[in-house]
Amino acid sequence: MAKVRVYELAKELGVESKAIMAKLGELGEFVRSASSTIEPPVVRKLRDAYPVGQAQAPEASAPRTPAARKPAAPAAPSAAEPAAPAPAVQPSVPSTPAPQVAAVEAPAARTEAPSEAAAPAAPSPGPRPVQSAPAAPAAPAAPAAGPRPGGPRPGNNPFAPSQGMPRQGGRGGAPRPGNNPFAPSQGMPRPGSTRGETTAAGERPGGPRPPAAGPGGPRPNPGMMPGRSAVSRPGAGAGAGAGRAGGGGRPGGGGGGYAGRPGGGAGGGAPGGPGGAGGGGFAGRPGGGGRGAGRGSTQGAFGRAGGRPVRGRKSKRAKRQEFEQMQAPSLGGVQVPRGDGSTIVRLRFGSSLNDFADKIDANPASLVTVLFHLGEMATATQSLDEDTFNTLAAELGYRIEMVSAEEEDRELLGSFDIDLEAELAEESDDQLTARPPVVTVMGHVDHGKTKLLDAIRSADVVAGEAGGITQHIGAYQIRTEHEGIDRAVTFIDTPGHEAFTAMRARGAQVTDIAILVVAADDGVMPQTIEALNHAQSAGVPIVVAVNKVDKEGANPAKIRQQLTEYNLVAEEYGGDTMFVDISALKRTGIDELIEAVLLTADAALDLRANADKDARGVAVEANLDKGRGAVATVLVQSGTLHVGDSIVAGTAYGRVRAMFDEHGNTLTEATPARPVMVLGLTSVPRAGDTFLVAPDDRTARQIAEKREAAERAALLAKRRKRISLEDFTQALQLGKVETLNLVLKGDVSGAVEALEDALLKIDVGEEVDLRVIHRGVGAITQNDVNLATVDNAIIIGFNVKYAERVEELAEREGVDVRFYSVIYQAIDDVESALKGMLKPEYEEVQLGTAEVREIFRSSKFGNIAGSLVRSGTIRRNSKARVRRGNDIVAENLSIESLKRFKDDATEVREGYECGIGLGSYNDLQVDDVVETYELREKPRS
Ligand code: GDP
Repeated sequence: MAKVRVYELAKELGVESKAIMAKLGELGEFVRSASSTIEPPVVRKLRDAYPVGQAQAPEASAPRTPAARKPAAPAAPSAAEPAAPAPAVQPSVPSTPAPQVAAVEAPAARTEAPSEAAAPAAPSPGPRPVQSAPAAPAAPAAPAAGPRPGGPRPGNNPFAPSQGMPRQGGRGGAPRPGNNPFAPSQGMPRPGSTRGETTAAGERPGGPRPPAAGPGGPRPNPGMMPGRSAVSRPGAGAGAGAGRAGGGGRPGGGGGGYAGRPGGGAGGGAPGGPGGAGGGGFAGRPGGGGRGAGRGSTQGAFGRAGGRPVRGRKSKRAKRQEFEQMQAPSLGGVQVPRGDGSTIVRLRFGSSLNDFADKIDANPASLVTVLFHLGEMATATQSLDEDTFNTLAAELGYRIEMVSAEEEDRELLGSFDIDLEAELAEESDDQLTARPPVVTVMGHVDHGKTKLLDAIRSADVVAGEAGGITQHIGAYQIRTEHEGIDRAVTFIDTPGHEAFTAMRARGAQVTDIAILVVAADDGVMPQTIEALNHAQSAGVPIVVAVNKVDKEGANPAKIRQQLTEYNLVAEEYGGDTMFVDISALKRTGIDELIEAVLLTADAALDLRANADKDARGVAVEANLDKGRGAVATVLVQSGTLHVGDSIVAGTAYGRVRAMFDEHGNTLTEATPARPVMVLGLTSVPRAGDTFLVAPDDRTARQIAEKREAAERAALLAKRRKRISLEDFTQALQLGKVETLNLVLKGDVSGAVEALEDALLKIDVGEEVDLRVIHRGVGAITQNDVNLATVDNAIIIGFNVKYAERVEELAEREGVDVRFYSVIYQAIDDVESALKGMLKPEYEEVQLGTAEVREIFRSSKFGNIAGSLVRSGTIRRNSKARVRRGNDIVAENLSIESLKRFKDDATEVREGYECGIGLGSYNDLQVDDVVETYELREKPRS
């Protein structure tokens, strides 16, 4: 699907560009102007959100409403059936140029429950609805009107008792769509009916009424307008349609709308074809269908469409209805498409109600309401944790599956039509060419990793000629002769397994082969083991470099022997691991080591890649350079990177302005396993971030922005979950925690011990446990914060500070770190928390006031106060009270809805007008002042 500009889509959907832009805002997509382009996935969403008529692109509507598009054929037989007996009567309807047809609704009836549809019809003289599809010319349908002039028509006249009955009987008594009593077109003849497909001949209150006698002859039922068929989401129309067609309705009664079920909830009468919309009428009301239905319904109900083609424009009343829906007061009153208990919804960590709403096709505002009724307050955009989602999902009949960042990212790329796995899988053998191995040097500290990397660099034949590798760019490639062939080997220039692990943690596997450096005079050490564990768990083959063999006391044989314990058996002992004795200092054995690397690669690995496509790879190192901006070294893993490519690396993006190799040479392209320094990114990626070439700048930017938003959301959710000493009390009361974990740090060991002793002596009763999970002397380090993060602990620092950059980490991880210089204060605080006395103190902070100028009344959903903001800002969901003169007439309210003109607003500032809804509080008067405030936690002294 191609990209579309806002105004084009607006035109297509028959709405204003402004509305599209507002909708985009709701969807979290921001565009600058009406001529901005919208990405295909977003276009799809918008088309779903504005499922308007014929204008809708076939690709969007076709799969959604399979029935709507081809109702004619299936409908025809059923229509013909009842109609058949009476063709003769038709001539008696001279005044009707357009035939009169009772009900319409074919496809819906067909899809939903044909038998049901028929059932209620049976008792009445001729209620069996004639099904006229929009595509079907009026002619075949017309005769139907004749034969049963008096036949109560299901689905139309509200006053006809016979009509209401079959409906109700059929479907459990819910008001049926389509029989809207207010529909003017029903009451009044409209000779000018455009399509002429239907008139509600049989629906007149007076019972039978020959069409000819009708005041105006043909009376197009707005509900039957073909345009209606477009207002659709899958099941809803079906429900409504069924109701109409046979007076029946959705199984389970109540009509699509009321149930608020997925089928019914979703939409107006699309599949129902003409008439479906009429059907949608009630379904769209609160308790009725979803938004789509609402729209369909309005038109159906008020007959706006009666005389002219249906457009996507909403009537005022439709808008009002939509607004009212959001105000639905009780849990049962909000319409949220429900799952069947096993419907799985996948959400990434850190998702918000908006995201959830998106997945189940619900209105985020209704989810806020539902959650509120479940006792949790959250805004639509706030990140929620898994527990909250589970609670909400259980209520609505869904099951939540939280997805990892990697999966989410795969899905995100998928939405841009990028599927890296499929891409790899599709590559055929003849597209693959050999690429150099990528090697990481690991080992215990001081065993000579850095020296070895230096030695290898100078072993490079090219470097020898070109004056050596001049730049440290994080990785370098050397050329060597192996078995008479010129071969290249790429080395990651950051020794140690930390970088290796950090990259793996980000899902990037860069290394093909690990060189494990072990000093022959020192032997296997803790980090040696750590390093080999990392390599083995990543499935990376190891070549052992036994270093410092020049040294006295070096015992290479001992190293071989020690390592057999770790499954690294030297070839000379019958194993398959290559051990090479080297001296990094003296530069001996280096060529043999590189040879061993190549031999191992050739024996154990199939190192090939497709160079003939857009590049994909990993950022190995990056930094911000004063003169050049963000500088990143990326390792191309497949494809070829060119100058001018639009790339995205993690959350950084940009266009490759220039590329350099480790010799400082300018490159125009980089092939697989080639590390290059790239200029042109707008920000600095992290080591281990994957990079890819995007089709264009815009896509690159959008991917980066979405990743960033996802990361931010995940971070926020994480932060919220950590405990603080204040909320420990609350968590304790809720039974959510039983243990208070502490990390103690002090300036001297005596103080730490004293503090620990005193804390452990606090008498906290049976139910709480106090554990000191770590204690130490010195500044609060990254390790302390990580520990607190894992064990949900609180850090207490006594006469110490944060180590460098740790404050930032604690802040990011949401760890509560408290500093004291008096031991007893620390003890006091902990004791209070344990005994439940450390309640947070709140103070009220006024946010804004608004003066009520006009009241819009709605009997059903409370009043809306058209107001002018007098001071500050009025924010949705904030607490509110109402002042009348000097009196406070209502307290403890909240701003449940806030509108700026027709759009929802999260806040409205001083000097602007807005519509305020205070939920169930309905006694507002003109000149009242709505005052909003929030309770802020007072910092402890
Ligand atoms: P790293 O911490 O593993 O990167 O180790 P370095 O490469 O910094 O080396 C640590 C120390 O060992 C340095 O003082 C080197 O000079 C010394 N060293 C490294 N390789 C050799 C070697 O082959 N022989 C001798 N005698 N000393 C070496």
